[in-house]
Amino acid sequence: MSITGWRVALLGLLLGSALVQAKPAQPSVIVVGAGFSGLAAAFELQEQGWQVTVLEARPTVGGRAGVASAEWLGSAELQPVLHQYLARFKLHTQAAPEYVRAASYLIDGKLFTQAELEQQQPAVAAAILGYEQALDGLAAQLDDPLQPLASARLRGLDQLSVARWLDQLALPATARALIEQRIRSRYDEPSRLALLYLVQQSRVYRGRPTIQLRSERLPGGSQVLAQALVKQLQTLKTGARVEAVTQTADGVTVKVGAAGYHADYVILSVPLPALARISLTPALPALQQAALKDINYGWREQMLLKFRKPFWGNTRLTGEIFSNQGVGVMWIEPAPKGGANLLVNISGDNARLMKAFNDRQMVDQVLLRLDKYYPGARAAFSGFEMRRTGTDPLAGGAYLAYGPGEISRYWRLWEQPLGRLLFAGEHTDALYPGTLEGALRSGQRAAQQVEALRAATD
Ligand SMILES: Cc1cc2nc3c(=O)[nH]c(=O)nc-3n(C[C@H](O)[C@H](O)[C@H](O)COP(=O)(O)OP(=O)(O)OC[C@H]3O[C@@H](n4cnc5c(N)ncnc54)[C@H](O)[C@@H]3O)c2cc1C
Repeated sequence: MSITGWRVALLGLLLGSALVQAKPAQPSVIVVGAGFSGLAAAFELQEQGWQVTVLEARPTVGGRAGVASAEWLGSAELQPVLHQYLARFKLHTQAAPEYVRAASYLIDGKLFTQAELEQQQPAVAAAILGYEQALDGLAAQLDDPLQPLASARLRGLDQLSVARWLDQLALPATARALIEQRIRSRYDEPSRLALLYLVQQSRVYRGRPTIQLRSERLPGGSQVLAQALVKQLQTLKTGARVEAVTQTADGVTVKVGAAGYHADYVILSVPLPALARISLTPALPALQQAALKDINYGWREQMLLKFRKPFWGNTRLTGEIFSNQGVGVMWIEPAPKGGANLLVNISGDNARLMKAFNDRQMVDQVLLRLDKYYPGARAAFSGFEMRRTGTDPLAGGAYLAYGPGEISRYWRLWEQPLGRLLFAGEHTDALYPGTLEGALRSGQRAAQQVEALRAATD
């Protein structure tokens, strides 16, 4: 080759390498956690051309969602993001049957529909109605559920526990037990819950009949949606428990055992108690560290009890049933393999009390109570599936349930990125915490934030 030829070739090479450098590198992100928030964040960013790696500690995806073969989903109006994903993956739901429309009550083993309660226990029904009206009155004072601290009066509600407020209502004992069961089933023990949080959540769902929260079912449960999201993802590692995350000016390094993963950004989509177990360098600011210790999580353990035949005979033991005996919401579930399935929730301090029990001992406690009112329940029992989030180190509780004073200190704290660290998860959603909708929304929000951060550095 002539000297001129070399020069041309060299120039070409230099130009070529300059071109390679000028082309923006594919941005990369690591998503820690393959619950619905992490899956949504990963999916959205991959769609935008990001190189995404999802690291999940468990052998399976879907996180805290779904022990039952099918769960109730809210309407498209109430849970638009969830429905957006269902439509995207052409997943078809089934309409909820009529019997799930209204709650019923199990008082000392006797089941009452709302109408029966009004007829046969009018004082209890009136007290429950009084409670609902009082709560609705407080919710009506909150103009914007995104601004729960807007007035001194509202800030005062944050200092009060729900239990103290119920004391002021002076309810008859049975009504109080049923109302407490309702609150602990959905959130947590009334003594641990801030009144402002109950009011803010009532405001979010105000004017929406309960049926909108249980309008349909996805056959196969939420796992079906989780799998549809996973199918789209290029890199997902299960059994990969993240122990440490180090952030530098150039990017992040995420440690799983001896392996290190490097990326431009990391989205931590794990519940707060699990986040507290991850070593972060640099350490979190003092406010976030305090929040990790303080923020209350509700407890709700769920068991699917399997029976050879329905022990409940002709009793319509299904729907959202609140008992005054500490056994939480119950549903009769489809039993695809025959027999009869009953889903039982134990919540709040009733669940915390059973912390030391193993799964089988916990089931026995429930069977004991059921058998008392429905003789034959124990004899028909054939097996169970259990989901315990309270004692699970990867969860640390069922979901966010702000305690007194916590909204004042930590409102929307986890929506703020810290350098290259971003946070997702139901607990980071200001409107719909404790739901699939909240988890999915938070994943989308974190994905948008990562995009914005990257755009700002380009
Ligand atoms: C009993 C119960 C009943 C519920 N019922 C309903 C309902 O009927 N309707 C509804 O909409 N919602 C319901 N929810 C709420 C809903 O399930 C949750 O809001 C949602 O699943 C939370 O998703 P997430 O992504 O925020 O967290 P998660 O699902 O907890 O996902 C976080 C993931 O991170 C993983 N992880 C944790 N630590 C690490 C680590 N160090 N390294 C790697 N991975 C890690 C976890 O294993 C998990 O998979 C219920 C929840 C419970 C507990």
